[in-house]
This record gives sequence, C-alpha cells and structure tokens, in this order.
Amino acid sequence: MEIKITRTSNPKEKPDEGSLGFGKYMTDHMFLMNYDGEEGWHDARIVPYGPIEMLPTAVALHYAQETFEGLKAYRRADGTVQLFRPEMNARRMMNSNARLCMPAMPEEMFVEAVKALVKVDEDWVPHAPETSLYIRPFMFTNEGQIGLHTSHHFTFCIVLSPVGAYYAGGLDPVKIVVEDEYVRAVKGGTGFAKCGGNYAVSMIAQAKAEKMGYSQVLWLDGVERKYVEEVGSMNIMFKIAGKIYTAPIDGTVLPGVTRDSILQILKKWGYEVVEERLAIDDLMKAGHDGTLEEVFGTGTAAVISPVSVLNYKGDIVTIHDNKIGDLTQKLYDYLTGIQWGKEEDVFGWTVPLN
Ligand SMILES: *Cc1c(COP(=O)(O)O)cnc(C)c1O
Repeated sequence: MEIKITRTSNPKEKPDEGSLGFGKYMTDHMFLMNYDGEEGWHDARIVPYGPIEMLPTAVALHYAQETFEGLKAYRRADGTVQLFRPEMNARRMMNSNARLCMPAMPEEMFVEAVKALVKVDEDWVPHAPETSLYIRPFMFTNEGQIGLHTSHHFTFCIVLSPVGAYYAGGLDPVKIVVEDEYVRAVKGGTGFAKCGGNYAVSMIAQAKAEKMGYSQVLWLDGVERKYVEEVGSMNIMFKIAGKIYTAPIDGTVLPGVTRDSILQILKKWGYEVVEERLAIDDLMKAGHDGTLEEVFGTGTAAVISPVSVLNYKGDIVTIHDNKIGDLTQKLYDYLTGIQWGKEEDVFGWTVPLN
C-alpha cells in the first residue's frame, strides 16, 4: 500500500508523562483512507491531526454507521516499540463491519496502516512505567443522504493518544452495579460488534451508576436479565471456588483481545475455565457464601481491573476484602510484562514496530 505522508509544520509539545490520563492528548498525525464502490480502498495518507470535513447529512451522524477498534503500542526497556496482537483487532473490525454493512479491508492493510502511523509518531510512545500509546482506528460513512439506503463511500481513520494508567487510582479495585433496567445487547443485535451505537445506548446506565457512586455497570443478558454478560468496556471474569467463569462469545458479548489472552494464560497455568452462562443469582450466592474469590474486568484500556463491590438491586457483595486478589495481580503482572517486553513472549503475541 502506498501511503502519502504530509508532516506537520508545527509539532505539539509533548505532555508530562506523569499526568497523561486516558485520551486527553492526541499526537501530531492521523491516518486517513477512503473507500468507494468503484475504486475500493484508496488514497492512503498520513496528515497533521485535525478536524475532518463532513456533510451535515453524513449517514454516520444520523444512522450511526460507524465501527471502531482500540489497541496499544508499548515501549520496551530497550527503547523499541511493539504492538500487541494487532491482527486480532483487524479481524474483529471486519466482523463489526460485516454486521453494519460496511466494507471489508485486508487484515494486512489494517496492520500496515497502524504501523505506518505509529512510526511517524513514534516519539509519542511514552517511556514512563505503565504508560503506552493508545491507537484508535475507526471507520464511518461520510456519504450524505437523509434517505436510508446502503452507503458506498467510507472513511477509515486512525488517531493516537499517549495514555497513563487507566484508572486514576492505579490498580485500585472498582465498584460495579448490576444494571437491571436497561439492556445493551440481544442475540441478532450488535453486541459482538465494536460500534458507537452500542455505547450510545449504554450511557444512560453508566450515568445512573456514577450517580450512585459506582464506576461501571455490569450488564445482564437482554432477554431474561438473568445471566451476567460484561461490563461497560470490559469483559468480566469471576473466580469461584478456584474455577474461572466468564460469559461465552455467542453474539451478545464483545470478543475482547484481552479476554482471549487472559483465558489462554489461565489455561496454560492449569486453571479450569468455564465459558458458560452464569446466573446473577448464583453469582450473588457465591458472593455471600464465601466461594466468590476474585472478580476482574479485562480490556485493552485498563488491561485488568479488579472489582471490589457488586451491587445487585441493593444486595451488596464485597470481594476479597476490598483488595486486589492474588490471581488478578499475577495476571496483570504477567500480561503487562509481555506487553512491555519484560516477560518472554511465549505466545508469540507481540509484533515489533520496525
Ligand atoms: C473493546 C471492548 C471490550 C474489550 O476488548 P479488548 O479487545 O480486550 O480491548 C470489552 N467490551 C466492550 C463492550 C468493548 O467495547
């Protein structure tokens, strides 16, 4: 793929690595590429980061034809930069796109675009411990039409943001409230797709949770509201009497790259992993009878997020005495060790930038 590079004439000052936060700062450049029915993907270019022109009638704005991805670039101790399983993000985006009537793109093209942009902004990959460069590829239709027809013109864009630890308090456990009114996904819907629309319909529950003093929502299945599925932007796992439970990937849950990686590590370590539906009543029972040992969310942004409290209709369970569990900590250390190049990558998951 030929990529035309136009470098910015006034690079921004890099932010202080001690207060990066998440998604607060954008790098100097972005990747853009266009698609139409005749030419396919064309006009790949890296340009200075800035506004995108759109028609007021762009279908993405009215009918939410949009998908996105999230992955990171990590700086190793030797100064080199690496990506983590980027082909998984490419594959997932194509699955999301198929559901939203959006065009496919070869996996290699996606990965090549990511690498090319990160190379141009390589200086932006931070050096401080726990920091990384968050990569946000997204695709949308910029076609202008108020009528509802399939679109033929699309834009693929990638932007980058240097990020610190996801939660301000580091690995401090989070409190989660089980959502029993609103639903996020049903079979046949878009739960498995990473698309903006899924988040638009989730915000009301997130706002409700924050008002109650909780940081995230745990979604139940959309039909019976009986089985646990996932958290706002993370998959979730429960250690009950030594076994690890997590919702199966069968259409309503987002197939997380972190989820897949953690399950592979757990199996390698000899844990029994149960990818089956788990009823909220059974989970709360385990919380009360002492067999619920650890709970943690998994996702690229936070990597692993320990959970200390579950609130279901006012019934409250405290996990591991409000402290991070041993297995949760061990998984975090091991997986981030691979990502930052401190652990040997026996799974072959990391991809060097150069
Ligand atoms: C992105 C996302 C996840 C986590 O996926 P990773 O690939 O591990 O980052 C989980 N749930 C939802 C709803 C998501 O959007």
